[in-house]
Amino acid sequence: MITRTPIAVHREEVEAGGSGARWQRQLSESIRDPATLCHRLGLDPALLPGAEQGHDLFEVRVPEAYLSRIRAGDPADPLLRQVLPLGDEARAVAGFIDDPLQEREHAPRPGLIHKYANRVLLIASPTCAINCRYCFRRHFPYAENAPSLREWDATLDYLRQDETIHEVILSGGDPLASSDRRLAWLVEQLDAIPHLKRLRIHTRLPVVIPDRVDTALLAWLGSTRLQRVVVLHINHAREIDAAVEAACSRLQAAGATLLNQSVLLRGINDDVETLATLSERLFEAGILPYYLHVLDPVAGAAHFDVDDREARTLVQALRQRLAGFLMPRLVREIPGEASKTPL
Ligand SMILES: *Cc1c(COP(=O)(O)O)cnc(C)c1O
Ligand code: SF4
Repeated sequence: MITRTPIAVHREEVEAGGSGARWQRQLSESIRDPATLCHRLGLDPALLPGAEQGHDLFEVRVPEAYLSRIRAGDPADPLLRQVLPLGDEARAVAGFIDDPLQEREHAPRPGLIHKYANRVLLIASPTCAINCRYCFRRHFPYAENAPSLREWDATLDYLRQDETIHEVILSGGDPLASSDRRLAWLVEQLDAIPHLKRLRIHTRLPVVIPDRVDTALLAWLGSTRLQRVVVLHINHAREIDAAVEAACSRLQAAGATLLNQSVLLRGINDDVETLATLSERLFEAGILPYYLHVLDPVAGAAHFDVDDREARTLVQALRQRLAGFLMPRLVREIPGEASKTPL
């Protein structure tokens, strides 16, 4: 099957069939508290009270593989800013609410969101490997939306009965936070539904823990008859190191088309130079820029917001810098609309 790229096989993975996989250990060893995060990065202890305040609202989670890309001692580092909680998160700002996408109204089955034509989104895992401070799901009731195995049957029936559905998007949380045993089972079920053509996976895991792209994952990804698209989530060129690039090559070797979505974030990537470098770096890693999302107005993330006028100006300037195929589409998600809305 997937023997086009040499892949290191870890003994414990083979023996445990994936459950003792290296990535799962890395996941469980992630940094989970602000004090450790600040200490490990040599940050000013004055940041700690604010960080604790933000952590109480949405817990810190940073895997070591991501930590290693953060510049120590720099509170403005664009990777750090994505994961370090701030006191600002506790500030109530008009228009920034708990469920900006009103997804709870579009779930015909637990864990299934059917808002757009021909494609559905499945919440395949309630958790993520990293907690991004600007996440629009920071208040999402994950637990209620993570289907049990029995509930998957209802979801699969829904997919079998609606022949207009051609594409299934695995989302979350992060779908790749699920075990490969579970994912292989799910993909096998999807494979057997004749009207399905594509499997899309929206994930940040190959970016934050590149070892996630291991032999067990490549086995199910590489053997489905469905066309595969992996949409990564990268906001800054420095998130792509050699290990991420290697993980991307393995995904491609398993037949996946790689796309990227970013979020336009104040203080992280809200300038032309940073966005141009990101697009160039993505392409070097074999990834095409897909969407640049304006921030969803989620409570606790207002300090990341870039207003529409500024966003349009940035994207116009970016267009003068980049080849057309390196331009992400600037979009917003508006509840009730049948697609993302271009700005
Ligand atoms: C974003 C999204 C999709 C995918 O939209 P594309 O424009 O095809 O990338 C599908 N379903 C839901 C609920 C979404 O939010
Ligand atoms: S990986 Fe995606 S879903 Fe998970 S916290 Fe980050 S932005 Fe949210």
